[in-house]
Amino acid sequence: MSAKKIYISADMEGITGVIHWDETGGNNPDYQYFRKIMTDEVNAAIEAAFEKGATDVVVRDAHGTARNLIPDQLHEKSKLIREWSKSPFGMMEGLDDSFDAICFVGYHAKAQTPFGTLAHTMSGAIFDLRVNKISMPEFGWNALIAGYFNVPVIFVSGDQALCDQAKQLIPEIETVAVKQGIGEASLNLHPKKSRQLIKAGVSRALDKLPKMKPFKLDSPYVLEIDFKKKESANRAAWYPGAERVGDFTIAVKCDDFLDCMRFFHLAY
Ligand SMILES: [Zn+2]
Repeated sequence: MSAKKIYISADMEGITGVIHWDETGGNNPDYQYFRKIMTDEVNAAIEAAFEKGATDVVVRDAHGTARNLIPDQLHEKSKLIREWSKSPFGMMEGLDDSFDAICFVGYHAKAQTPFGTLAHTMSGAIFDLRVNKISMPEFGWNALIAGYFNVPVIFVSGDQALCDQAKQLIPEIETVAVKQGIGEASLNLHPKKSRQLIKAGVSRALDKLPKMKPFKLDSPYVLEIDFKKKESANRAAWYPGAERVGDFTIAVKCDDFLDCMRFFHLAY
């Protein structure tokens, strides 16, 4: 049985060529250029999904303003989720258990990754995020949200460091590295080559889907956040049930992962 409903969450730091924050938002003309490259890379994933028999593809624009993808240049059979609803689902807005598989495009490594391109975790206020003692990039956190809905994450593209982190969490995932960090620089594929590899990678991932499982950890979940600033830690410590376990570290224990999402969403 082929996957009918595919969900794609698209970030921008892991798009081919993107190397500076100026290229990911605001009034810099280079941002307009990279929006196009981002849209093309998402289209490569969408094309593979439809070629493999998908009937519905929903794309979540998940970077910055969540208004990056260029609507009329996106594959015409897909649907696009823009802006933030302020729900705890964030970069996974609109996902539910009716989907069969999830692909991530343009993702990046977690904060403090030595060779990660524009590496950070969520807002940038976080030094590290752990669930059940396992350090999570945004990739991992969003894969856990996917697991909450029992949908497997089967593909990710981004920089090499992110792909390595993704494989550590989900060894069977298909990955495509479109660039390799060299300090603050990066070595990039040609955008056309990246599109070819993304399309082929999503096809391979869909072939493997029957063997892939949702990413889940054992309940009760222990969520720990190391904040960069004491103000953030002081604020999060007031969340009901939160415990201060270090000068900059706040933890919560939850039986239901939705409660972890609530804490993460509201506590900083
Ligand atoms: Zn982003």
